[in-house]
Amino acid sequence: MARGVLFVMSGPSGTGKGTICERLLANENNNIFLSISSTTRGIRKGEVDGVTYNYTTVENFEKMIADGEMLEYAEYNGNYYGTPRRAVADMLSSGRNVLLEIEVQGALKVKNIFPDAILMFVIPPSMKELKNRLTDRGRESEEQILKRMETAKWEFTKSPLYNHIFINDDLDECVKEVETVMRNESAKRDLVDKLISEQY
Ligand code: 5GP
Repeated sequence: MARGVLFVMSGPSGTGKGTICERLLANENNNIFLSISSTTRGIRKGEVDGVTYNYTTVENFEKMIADGEMLEYAEYNGNYYGTPRRAVADMLSSGRNVLLEIEVQGALKVKNIFPDAILMFVIPPSMKELKNRLTDRGRESEEQILKRMETAKWEFTKSPLYNHIFINDDLDECVKEVETVMRNESAKRDLVDKLISEQY
C-alpha cells in the first residue's frame, strides 16, 4: 500500500488558510483527511467540539504531552495546540493523504520528524490587505490586530523553509493552485514508491 502524503498548511492569521483548507476538504476528489488538533483555548461561536478542535484543559493537554500522544505541539497566544500522533500515523499508513493546519513552530517540528512532509505557506498580496482582512473580521481590537501584524512579519521570515508558497489574492485561483500542487506531490510520491518496489 502506497504511503499517504503529509501536507502542512501554515500562514498568518487573516491570510485565509482556514477557508482554503475548508475548500480542499469540501472537494471529495482531493481525498484528504484533516487532522483534528487538541487545544486549550476556549471554544468560539460557530465552532464544534470534536470537529473544529478537541477542546481540553491545560492539565489534560500536559498529560497527553507526557504520554507521548502529540506528534507536535506549540504554545500560541497563551494556549496549547497539538496534533494527535496516532490518528495521523494511522491515516498515512492506510494510504490517505493528511492535512495539518498548524502554525510555523509546529510545522517546522513536523518537518524534522517527517522530512518528506510537504509544507505549504499562504501569504496575502500586501500588508494593507492583511490588515483589512483582520479588521473586517471584527474579532479583535486595533491593538490585537497590530500584534497579529507583527507576528505575521515574523512568520513571513520562516516561509523560505516551506516547500510551496501561495499568494491568496483570488481565493478560487489560490485553491486551484494548492490542489494542483497536492495532486502533483501525491503523484510523485506514488511514482517513487512504485520505482522502489519495481523489478528491473
Ligand atoms: P486559532 O486559535 O485561530 O484557531 O489557531 C491559532 C493558530 O494555531 C493557527 O495558526 C492554527 O493554524 C494553529 N494551530 C491549530 N492547531 C494546531 C496544532 O495542532 N499545532 C500547532 N502547532 N498549531 C496549531
